[in-house]
Amino acid sequence: IEKFLDTLKLKLPPQAVIENIYVKEITEDVKYSEFKIVESEHSQPTSLYLPADIKICNQCLEELVVPSNRRYLYLFINCTQCGPRFTIIKTLPYDRENTTMDVFRMCDECYNEYVDPSNRRFHAQPNACHKCGPGLEVKKVENKKIEKVFGITKTATDVEKILDFVVDEIINGKIFAIKSYGGYHLVCDATNDDVVLRLRSLKHREYKPFAMMCSDVEVIKKYCFVNNVEEKLLASSQAPIVLLHRRNEKNTTVVPISKYVAQQSKYYGFMLPYTPLQYLIFYWLKKLGRDIPLVMTSGNISDEPQVYDDEDAEVKFSNIADYILSYNRKIRIRCDDSVVKVFNNDVCFIRRSRGWSPEPIYVKHKFVKPVLAFGADLKNTFALAKDDYVILSHHIGDLDNIEAIESYVDSIEYYLDTFKHKPEVIIYDLHPQYVSSKIAKEFANKNSVESVAVQHHYAHMLSCMLENGIYEDVIGVIFDGTGYGIDGTIWGSEFLVGNTDKFERKGFFDYITLIGGDDGIKKPYKTLMGFLYEEYRDKKTIEEIWNKIVKNFTEENKVEDIPEFNILYESVKFLIDNKINIIKTCGMGRIFDIVAVVCSVGLYNHFEGQLPQELESYAEREFDNMSAKNEIYEYTISKDKIYVVDTKNLVKQIINELLYGVNTIRIAAKFHYTIGRIVVDVVEKINQDTSIDKVVLSGGVFQNELLLRLVVSLLKEKKFEVYLQRKVPCNDGGISFGQVVQGLRFN
Ligand code: ZN
Ligand code: ZN
Ligand code: FE
Repeated sequence: IEKFLDTLKLKLPPQAVIENIYVKEITEDVKYSEFKIVESEHSQPTSLYLPADIKICNQCLEELVVPSNRRYLYLFINCTQCGPRFTIIKTLPYDRENTTMDVFRMCDECYNEYVDPSNRRFHAQPNACHKCGPGLEVKKVENKKIEKVFGITKTATDVEKILDFVVDEIINGKIFAIKSYGGYHLVCDATNDDVVLRLRSLKHREYKPFAMMCSDVEVIKKYCFVNNVEEKLLASSQAPIVLLHRRNEKNTTVVPISKYVAQQSKYYGFMLPYTPLQYLIFYWLKKLGRDIPLVMTSGNISDEPQVYDDEDAEVKFSNIADYILSYNRKIRIRCDDSVVKVFNNDVCFIRRSRGWSPEPIYVKHKFVKPVLAFGADLKNTFALAKDDYVILSHHIGDLDNIEAIESYVDSIEYYLDTFKHKPEVIIYDLHPQYVSSKIAKEFANKNSVESVAVQHHYAHMLSCMLENGIYEDVIGVIFDGTGYGIDGTIWGSEFLVGNTDKFERKGFFDYITLIGGDDGIKKPYKTLMGFLYEEYRDKKTIEEIWNKIVKNFTEENKVEDIPEFNILYESVKFLIDNKINIIKTCGMGRIFDIVAVVCSVGLYNHFEGQLPQELESYAEREFDNMSAKNEIYEYTISKDKIYVVDTKNLVKQIINELLYGVNTIRIAAKFHYTIGRIVVDVVEKINQDTSIDKVVLSGGVFQNELLLRLVVSLLKEKKFEVYLQRKVPCNDGGISFGQVVQGLRFN
């Protein structure tokens, strides 16, 4: 029996996954006369199974580079174990005529493989070859004019010519828009400062780190620390972007990556090739002795969704790319690359998309009515729940532009239609201004189905509970940017107690004043100035603090556009005195923001979470020292039914240390350590009141590895059972997954 169990785990077909193994001892004396493999008990009919895209497999890869093979250099090579799925399927069942391959007629050779049960291409729906399938083409973009450089390829020689040309031009510092499975990437030499900077300015993405791709993991190891789990993820058939800790490149002999790729970030985001075309580009670079990393960032302008439509590509890239490397098979639906990080030897999703979506996540519960959850407005995903599974959509993104909203509405329609899902319960975020909430309510009205709003942080808590199969009482520590509270204020540093039916707010960090709404989140120095004005009032003192912060911006840590004190002070004073555009918030992300400004980490969040992430990097350098000495700021927790942590006093102590000239790296470390200790303190108090000892952690702030590690270890020391998010993101990408739990109430 043991041998059977071992074999089962080790000898799976490549794409098979074991979700769970239950072993049960049978004590009665029963004799079995036969062994049968019976049909799955999962209620989902297999015809409604929509598989995710899979990286090219090793067997296909071998064929790809053998000149005698009839698919030598054929870029759309695939088999039953690999290739695009989700992104080419128009409707279910998954048959060739229901995919965007329907316009290509298989040649005799391909068809014979397709119908031969002993062939590894038996019923491989996208099966094709040079003769009968899609081909590659190159277009040049100049002065907004599109010009064909190479027409659709028909032979291996055609492909060779294109590859020679492409790698030459990449090395020459050109930018390519390259069509992948789920959309276009913008691609360039990651070691070339000029081209990386040019891409940044053309794409209107000045700061957010770019993802990169390398030929193999050995190259990545020259730039990053890669452990076994990370290596497995990189090499997996999902091939996600893995965030890896950077090495100090000064000590290596490799060509350094341009400093403009990831600027201050302590991570590099790397992935390995997953389409045949990506493989061949690196294969060709290697032949030229230029085994370099390439920037492989999603093809879009600023924060718009990734471009996946070919006509759209010609318009959108006319100002960005020098060339478009495309092919004549349509992408049915966009699907961005997934992004993961490893924590405690297990995966954490930052973005769950290509490779995983839209495969079902099975849960230990039954939904009596089909549910549709609309998610939140940032990092949006939506979710379908039915029977004992949840289908979490691919990454939709921030619903703050028309393109994204259109893609959101279209995608929902596509999923409902494809999965023949008729929701009877609609769930959405409590925030009345969310686009997702408005669309959800309209949908519910139009289809006359029940609907319910769920508080944002409760949804985060439910998300963590659902994936861990917990339905009884827990303490939820939910830290994120902002979310709409049941009292109409903006929450975000929540200690909740509850189960799948209900929750109660048991604690939070006291409110601070956010100045300037969404603009204030991008410019947290305004919020800090508001804090200084409210707490110190004396303009001279405030100026002294401000000057100290400005003085701490060093050469290594330069900040452009430092606002002039007087103008900043007067404008913030005016807003506060006249109560214009100010709002109270207790979002943990906002607290991290202002501490980051005090520590001169920077003044701007050019992308979401930038300053908190950089504050974490600061803290890391001194953290072990702080925790060894047990050094923390004093804090007070008041209780008037709810535990309230005195945020103001905490920030004031930090400002005092700044004035005393304490090193800002030490301040950052001490701040992290203090937050960790406060969390455990509040959890213990709640435990004394309720005797609940299960703690779930969620919310985007827990992407902060330092804080997460600290909170987990301190809670475990106190014998709490701690649960994290492993199957879905702890950020707002996991909100819809949590929302569906409210569907359990309806039956
Ligand atoms: Zn294959
Ligand atoms: Zn063929
Ligand atoms: Fe959130």
